[in-house]
Amino acid sequence: MTTTTRTGGTLTVRGLGKTYGSGAAAVPAIADLSFDVAAGEFVCIVGPSGVGKSTLLKCLSGLLSPTRGEARLDGAAIEGRPPKGLSFVFQDYTRSLFPWYTLQKNVALPLRNKGLPRAECVERARRALDAVGLGGKADAYPWQLSGGMQQRVAIARGLAYEPELLLMDEPFASVDAQTRAELEDLTLSVHRDFGVTVLLVTHDIDEAIYLADRIVVLGGPPCVLQEVIEVDLPRPRDQLGTKADPRFADLRARVFSLISGT
Ligand code: ADP
Repeated sequence: MTTTTRTGGTLTVRGLGKTYGSGAAAVPAIADLSFDVAAGEFVCIVGPSGVGKSTLLKCLSGLLSPTRGEARLDGAAIEGRPPKGLSFVFQDYTRSLFPWYTLQKNVALPLRNKGLPRAECVERARRALDAVGLGGKADAYPWQLSGGMQQRVAIARGLAYEPELLLMDEPFASVDAQTRAELEDLTLSVHRDFGVTVLLVTHDIDEAIYLADRIVVLGGPPCVLQEVIEVDLPRPRDQLGTKADPRFADLRARVFSLISGT
């Protein structure tokens, strides 16, 4: 896989707010958020459970309309439906793959829906499955695979779309620790090789530090921006060396104290 340089994938969030419902039943989930993600950057969003992380990603993907403010991908407002150039990897792979379709077909399906010619769909799906190490399993079905492999398929499907921006909502929360580390490393290599902008939500502070160029720390509810932290750890990263770096421990302490309010 060759390294790709991209110019697209810049995300701008300005004064974004989201309230569910109205009147006495109103739930203010996001108060007021503004931040940027540069093209090709890897940004992680962390914050306590219930702070509004999933709501934010849904607003950024066009699945939910914000009540106030806006988000833009490469200058174009994200509204109404997922913008071209955006892929979403959900936490729950069991609900995001079709069990009656082969891996090849699961990955190719959104491309067919996008109207691409059949031969191109097949080729893109093959390349994406290769990129996540599942090239030899294109004819298998999701239920024949482990959880970690199924999440690889979900990542392949996101990549096959050739997005500028990959949104990932707690993508490794449902797998064991060893698989989680493998998927983190896979995501880092995908980020490097495809040059895609990644915005990943996690509640795991170590994971955020290991993956990100910058960490957006959220507080609330309702959700507000607490701080944006630069992760000045060298790349490429590795599970042992990076986590043994004294700067890793400093960053962990800083993010932890922000989240726990100590
Ligand atoms: P997180 O992902 O950080 O755990 P969520 O975005 O899921 O947080 O939720 C933020 C707040 O919005 C919570 O108070 C939650 O109960 C509320 N919420 C989430 N989805 C809905 C919904 N569909 N309707 C009403 N309230 C919701």
